[in-house]
Amino acid sequence: EKFRELGVSEEMLKGIADLGFETPSPVQEKAIPVILGEENDLVVLAQTGTGKTAAFGLPLLQKIEPEWNNVQVLILSPTRELCVQIGNDLKNYSKYRKDIRVTCVYGGTDIKRQIKDLQRGVHVVVATPGRLVDLLNRKAINIESVFAVVLDEADEMLNMGFQEDLDFILSNTPKEKNTYLFSATMPKEVERIARNYLVNQQEISV
Ligand code: AMP
Repeated sequence: EKFRELGVSEEMLKGIADLGFETPSPVQEKAIPVILGEENDLVVLAQTGTGKTAAFGLPLLQKIEPEWNNVQVLILSPTRELCVQIGNDLKNYSKYRKDIRVTCVYGGTDIKRQIKDLQRGVHVVVATPGRLVDLLNRKAINIESVFAVVLDEADEMLNMGFQEDLDFILSNTPKEKNTYLFSATMPKEVERIARNYLVNQQEISV
């Protein structure tokens, strides 16, 4: 079937089968092979509801090396609600990969519990920019080992004034990584982020 042909692993196929996914959506069809290939960064012009979470979630989850106890994938999202949604989606996709640990960190709630969560060792962090900056300043998280960063709803993050936070966060990630930017609109502030941080980028719009 089509998801398998795109390179999605057996465990992930079982996870999405339980969710009733049968055919990849257009953004999944275009993005999954690129993300699995690691050659290109991506700018994806896509609205919410197009299946973008699985478009980055499936390929990134299956690339996690669970025996390495470090943060390997960082997903930035503008709001707490979106973080929780993405985190739940990723946990569902990786239901048959119990060795992969996903956590969400966002503001407006007890930071101590989130710090404890991080101390247990996690592979995927879904974060709002403000809270992640706070955790970085407290040295409660290390993102120097990430192989991929996803900027989800980049236009919204910039609208909410997270420009400086994004610059600080990205300066704490390694140079050798892939960056995937998802946005519903492409104002010049988003183009600036793409120009400054993406390498060898491919563009997808759905
Ligand atoms: P998203 O744009 O990632 O928020 O996804 C929108 C909705 O579509 C979510 O409820 C997903 O569970 C669902 N969805 C994503 N991809 C597929 C697919 N290939 N087949 C069926 N439903 C999907």
